Amino acid sequence: MTRKSASVDKVCGNCRCHNTYEYPYNVFCFTKFADRENPVVSIFDGCDKWENKLQDCFCVEDALKKQGKKKK
Ligand code: SF4
Repeated sequence: MTRKSASVDKVCGNCRCHNTYEYPYNVFCFTKFADRENPVVSIFDGCDKWENKLQDCFCVEDALKKQGKKKK
């Protein structure tokens, strides 16, 4: 079984259209780039073009960890 993290929330960090940009908080969205929109989005954003990704990554996990550290 794969890590359960990832495929639950439909956020940019769990979408197949993202790639790293300013790790771990902002990602580069290929869909927005193709639509000539600003491709830099927050890892916790989302949109109706969200698609499940094929491979797990650690973006959301790491962003949540870092956010947790900042609050302390
Ligand atoms: S903006 Fe939409 S298409 Fe782009 S990464 Fe986020 S959810 Fe996916």
